[in-house]
Amino acid sequence: MLRLSVAAFRGVPGIDRLQVVIGPDDEAQYRQAVGDFGLPPPVFGGASRQHSVLNGLEALAEAPPDLVAVHDAARPFVRPTDIAACLAALAAPEVDGAVLGVPLTDTLKRADDTGVISGTVSRSGLWRAQTPQVFRFERLLEAHRAAAALARHEATALTDDASVAERAGLRVVMVCGHEDNRKITTAEDLHVTTPMETRTAFGFDVHGFGPGDSVTLGGVAIAHARGLVGHSDADVALHALTDAVLGTIGAGDIGMHFPPSDPRWRGVSSDRFLQHAIGLLQAAGGRIVHLDLTLICEAPRIGPHRQAMVDSIARIADVDAARVSVKATTTEGLGFTGRREGIAAQAVATIELPRIRS
Ligand code: MG
Repeated sequence: MLRLSVAAFRGVPGIDRLQVVIGPDDEAQYRQAVGDFGLPPPVFGGASRQHSVLNGLEALAEAPPDLVAVHDAARPFVRPTDIAACLAALAAPEVDGAVLGVPLTDTLKRADDTGVISGTVSRSGLWRAQTPQVFRFERLLEAHRAAAALARHEATALTDDASVAERAGLRVVMVCGHEDNRKITTAEDLHVTTPMETRTAFGFDVHGFGPGDSVTLGGVAIAHARGLVGHSDADVALHALTDAVLGTIGAGDIGMHFPPSDPRWRGVSSDRFLQHAIGLLQAAGGRIVHLDLTLICEAPRIGPHRQAMVDSIARIADVDAARVSVKATTTEGLGFTGRREGIAAQAVATIELPRIRS
């Protein structure tokens, strides 16, 4: 988020200095995010937003700029053109500050503690304030110093710089921005706002029949006159699904992660293979959209076990069963599956992943 925010400001003509304010414990993350941007060393923030902004302003005060734009790094999608519009608003000499925001479009209701509506509030003239908030530097610094000199509880109650400026009697105007300049405060916000891309990948596997009295397909044991031969439990369905998921993130194939030569995987349940692939996907910030499996065999009959397999795969992959599809077909007696020599499985995984910038 910080990197995107800084990058947005670097794209605005007229901005010649960027001062980041961070928490004292966040230096390593700071360097990782923007260490290659050649910024001045970060300033440490304080106990409140207001205190943090004041620390940033004081750092600039040694060589004071004409204007200063204060921005929340938690608004990484700010448009450089909107930043420029705020700066442009201060071309008018009577304006001390300009705040990016959007006019309210929702109808506002006032309700009591039990939720009963007591009235409708006119939304006329109401805005939702965002950042950046741009000010004449000396006036904002003066206003912040004055606010900091007040009693602590009052000083921390001011939630943005415009409030500090308004309190000091400055003339601050709203500049119309865009809804996409959202503030990210919860993990859910991140999912809603992160641009995602959809990927699809394919998996395929075959195991031959051998001695035994059951086969395991999609984690479900199915009684059968023969078993499947393999190093693990030979769950051809989970193996195909695992390869499909690995394919979506370019993470190789199941044999790379779980080599058949490794005795650790002898006879193990294939749950762990698919869970491993899902874990890699989740670590990359991705999530399953859909898993589609086709089993190819003459026997056993899949139909009676189809729902159990859907539920099992959904449980292993940690997704809703509505995102899992299991189908079966024969090859009309043709080929190795037609000769009942083994079972083949094909799988397609569709996933969402944070969009890769390239
Ligand atoms: Mg296999």
